[in-house]
Amino acid sequence: MKVLVIGGGAREHALCRSLSLDPDVSALYCAPGNAGIAEVAELRPVDALDGGAVAALATELGAGLVVVGPEAPLVAGVADAVRAAGIPVFGPSAEAARLEGSKAFAKDVMAAAGVPTARSYVCTTAEEVDAALDAFGPPYVVKDDGLAAGKGVVVTEDREAAREHAAACDRVVIEEYLDGPEVSLFAITDGVTVLPLQPAQDFKRALDGDQGPNTGGMGAYSPLPWADPKLVDEVLETVLQPTVDELRHRGTPFSGLLYAGLALTSRGTRVIEFNARFGDPETQVVLARLRTPLAGVLLGAANGTLDTLPPLNWSDEAAVTVVIASHNYPGTPRTGDPIEGLAEVAAEDGPEAYVLHAGTRQEGDAVVSAGGRVLSVTAIGSDLAQARERAYKSVARIRLDGGQHRTDIAAKAAEGR
Ligand code: AMP
Repeated sequence: MKVLVIGGGAREHALCRSLSLDPDVSALYCAPGNAGIAEVAELRPVDALDGGAVAALATELGAGLVVVGPEAPLVAGVADAVRAAGIPVFGPSAEAARLEGSKAFAKDVMAAAGVPTARSYVCTTAEEVDAALDAFGPPYVVKDDGLAAGKGVVVTEDREAAREHAAACDRVVIEEYLDGPEVSLFAITDGVTVLPLQPAQDFKRALDGDQGPNTGGMGAYSPLPWADPKLVDEVLETVLQPTVDELRHRGTPFSGLLYAGLALTSRGTRVIEFNARFGDPETQVVLARLRTPLAGVLLGAANGTLDTLPPLNWSDEAAVTVVIASHNYPGTPRTGDPIEGLAEVAAEDGPEAYVLHAGTRQEGDAVVSAGGRVLSVTAIGSDLAQARERAYKSVARIRLDGGQHRTDIAAKAAEGR
């Protein structure tokens, strides 16, 4: 099978890496890709947001499966265009992707499906904002209704900051604060059958100790030794299956990757958000542990045949990924800085540790930074402590001027805290 992956971040590098190891994949293409993906897939320049161009490329390549990585092409209808061209595609329709594209839509679906989530108000005026802030009290949670790459959410004790964020958005969702640890649970679905993957935890804040601004994600680990072993079954029953059923009953079935961002609060599990695609950086650690060849599972979701597949096979090993970001991320990042040490990691640390590329670009012989998050250094080990040690050993070999990373990814979990 020939497979075309759309996107160019570390998530797509992780997807491409897994697909390249799958014996059923005869040729692998990625558009637009990045400098690291180029080592495992043939890159094709294409506007990832142009459904017609993606469908034409898939047809030209004779692709038997297209995998859409990021949210923006999904919301723009790229999966619909590929499906309309008669090619199996892993990724939801634009209609179903509204589960991620509009927080207000997601709240509506959850209410209809009886899925536990934070109470919330959708606000468009300053008066509505004030009333909602009063209703919940601090800490205030204010979310831009539209897509904001994980950066549209402000959680603050400072009422003025909450009002300012709301004023900067056309429409906001203001909701009650959820306490407790967060878990990311991915599920692969064809719109009927739901196949949960292993849970992971990511680190959203820029700085150690969960300080600083929210980012797209600075690191992740899996499994979660502290979590209740029944968590996955519980979330399947109370969150994932009801949501998939609700969207199917609405006539907009969701096929692809349903990502539930969960808070394990003192009052039970609550959905913080849904995403309509693999999460970055959790994908890096979840796929590092998946033994089942990936292409057949994604194709099963695309073709509506997930119920015929055997259960997924998981490694008992642990995985940790540490993101190296550019100077000034999550503000406007500086790009064009050379990255050194990649060959050393490959030569000295593999195969247990490896570097997945996010914002990188080949410039002559050099690989240079080309985005906010630049690399996702990933390692496996017999437990989290070993995976963490290996990941940070490789991180230490990488040189990126102004580069920043957190030093506490998976630290508490590795120590059993
Ligand atoms: P979201 O984009 O909705 O995932 O929000 C990004 C991050 O903001 C989440 O991962 C949480 O850390 C935080 N957050 C979002 N909603 C809430 C909430 N209701 N209570 C507490 N923290 C939240």
